[in-house]
Order: sequence, then C-alpha cells, then structure tokens
Amino acid sequence: MRKAGRHFLQIPGPSSVPDRILSAISRQTIDHRGPEFAKVGLRALEGMKGIFNTQSHVFIYPSSGTGAWEAALVNSLSPGDRVLMFETGHFATLWKKLAEKLGLKAEFIEGDWRGGADPDQIEARLAEDTAHEIKAVCVVHNETSTGSVSPVAAVRQAIDNAGHPALFMVDTISGLASLEYQHDAWGVDVTVSGSQKGLMLPPGLSFNAVSEKAMVANRTAGLQRSYWDWAEMVGPNRTGYFPYTPGTNLLYGLNEAIDMLHEEGLENVFARHARHGAAARKAVRTWGLDVLCAAQGQESGVLTAVVMPEGHSADAFRASTLENFDISLGNGLSKVADKVFRIGHLGDFNDLMLIGTLAGVEMGLKKANVPHREGGVQAAMAMLA
Ligand SMILES: *Cc1c(COP(=O)(O)O)cnc(C)c1O
Repeated sequence: MRKAGRHFLQIPGPSSVPDRILSAISRQTIDHRGPEFAKVGLRALEGMKGIFNTQSHVFIYPSSGTGAWEAALVNSLSPGDRVLMFETGHFATLWKKLAEKLGLKAEFIEGDWRGGADPDQIEARLAEDTAHEIKAVCVVHNETSTGSVSPVAAVRQAIDNAGHPALFMVDTISGLASLEYQHDAWGVDVTVSGSQKGLMLPPGLSFNAVSEKAMVANRTAGLQRSYWDWAEMVGPNRTGYFPYTPGTNLLYGLNEAIDMLHEEGLENVFARHARHGAAARKAVRTWGLDVLCAAQGQESGVLTAVVMPEGHSADAFRASTLENFDISLGNGLSKVADKVFRIGHLGDFNDLMLIGTLAGVEMGLKKANVPHREGGVQAAMAMLA
C-alpha cells in the first residue's frame, strides 16, 4: 500500500540526500578523459582538502567506505605488520577483521562499546613496544554503532608521548562534515571517509587523505594492491583525472555538497550537529532510557544509540515504528544487536526534522508498549526553542 508523505530515513547513514545534490547528480554523464571533466575532478580533489583540513593528498575511490579502509592499509603496510586498533564498537571490529584478512597482525585494545578510544591505554601499549613492531595505530573517530566519539588529537599526543613512529590512521566515515576534523593539525597519516553520511551524498564514493609520511611508506609497503594504489592515482589526479572510470555523477554531487557546506559554514554545520545530539539525548533521558555512550563529552552529534529496557526487542520496536510511522531507525549491530536502536541526526537536517524524528520514536515507544515516561519530545523542543 502506498504510504503518503515523506519517509523519515533516520539511520546514521546513508542520510537523506538534499534536492540540490540530487539535481546535480542528474546531469548528463560526460567523457571522463575529456577537457570538461578535468574541472570537475580538480574541484572535487581540491575541495575535499578543505573538508579534511589538509594540504596533502586526497584520493577519491568509486567505492563504499569499506574500500577506503582497505586502501589505507594495503597502501602503507606490509604482510605480517602489527597494527594496534581500539575496540570502540562494530566498525572498529570490522576494520580489524579486514586487516587480518589482508595478512596483518591486528591487535585490539578491548573496549566496552560505551565510549571512544582511550589515549592512555594506547600510550601504555606503544611504550611497551620498544622494538617498534607496531606499524600503525587505527582508531574510529565517530563509532557509528555506538554514538561515541574518539579524541583523535589526544591519540596523536599519546603516540608522540610514547615516542613511537607508527602511522596514525583514522576512520571518520561517519564523522567527516558533521564533526570537526583536522587531518594535518591532528597529525593523522591516513584518514578514511565515505560519501553517504555527513557529506549528504548517496553511497558510492570513498576517500583517503594521506600525509607525506604515509606517501613515503607507500613506496616500500609490501601488501599487494592494484585498484587501490595511491601511486597510480597521483599522476592523473594532478590534472583532475583518474586512472580508471571515476564516479562522474557522484563527483557532480560532491562538488555541490562541498559548496553547500561552505555556504552554511563548517563551524555552523558542526554546531548544528552538536545541538541536535544534545536535544536527542535530552529526549532519551526524559523517556527514562539510557544513551549507550556513557563517556561524558564523547557523545556523538551524528547519532544517538538508545538502550532498550530489559526484556524488550529493539528490532521489534523498529519494525513496529517503521510500519506505523514510516520512519527507519538504525539497528543494533553484533554485540548490541536487538539491544539498542540508533537515531540518526546527521547531514541535511534541521530542528523540525529532529522533532519529527523524536516524535516518531516517542509515538513508537507508546505503540510498541515499551515502558517509558512521556515528554521527551517536549523536553527537546524546550531545549531547541
Ligand atoms: C558506514 C561506516 C563504515 C562502512 O562504510 P561502508 O560505506 O558501509 O562500506 C565504516 N566505518 C564507519 C565508522 C561507518 O560509519
């Protein structure tokens, strides 16, 4: 049966795509080796440097974020290299599994999925590694499975305090263009990102921002690579081209997204996300439910993961809310499957969309007979107005 009105896509990525970007993407595909394309390519490559806050290299792949995870590792490491990762949640776990499949020795600092990476634990582990066997430290900036943010600059400081030469890699697939990010100033060697979260695009583009140190590591890195090879990208990228067919139409959309972010002002974009995160948490706490992120100051402005009351299925709640109110909420992943649901409040999003979203959740709780107190939406409204 047809459902009237707009569907609320409130998962933490893909986020809903604004009309301006949809119409940019709908332009005719052009010759990616022709003169007109060079302008599109150069604008995207240069524009993304401003989003990552880097003067160094940015590479763009026609892939989902997972491809850029793989690209980061195969371009800079060798078989058997040890990498230190921090278990912030499901996405950190997937990146570790990917590293293991590539033949790396991935080591986890275990976490409880209720906060970001702990710089002190990273520093302590690196200080023990006097032989410098650890070749890279990998951290997820915005852990999309839990709604926790890792202190990236403090992790850099921890690596420096330990006097350790490891490369520093950060996944900000769901943080970029929603939370402040400084590739150069925070001393990150490889930053990984994707198109379908804060960048407001459909899925299909991914990114590596790469420091000079990582470019040097690329020359001797022994892992096999072809499609992902930075070295193949550098030459064509200089004039705005790519070694193989790029995602031409998504690049039109990317250039539009970059313009939109600057028109609003990146600082304002970040403040908007922080404010919506605070209002969402206010609603959740008013309902008497727990926010999964328990680390104060590390709560995400991108999404809020909500812990279901004992004995209630998060997935049954989500299914009922979709059926009754036409809103998609994020599911709990692996360890927290069926125990949490996630409210996405990222990308092209405003106060009324947040209130509509929270109203969908509050009505959904009532409809599914999940024990809660009323008034969460009211509390969020009071905060926003
Ligand atoms: C979405 C996401 C990924 C996976 O990206 P895909 O585009 O699904 O391949 C990885 N890490 C984080 C933090 C994410 O949010």
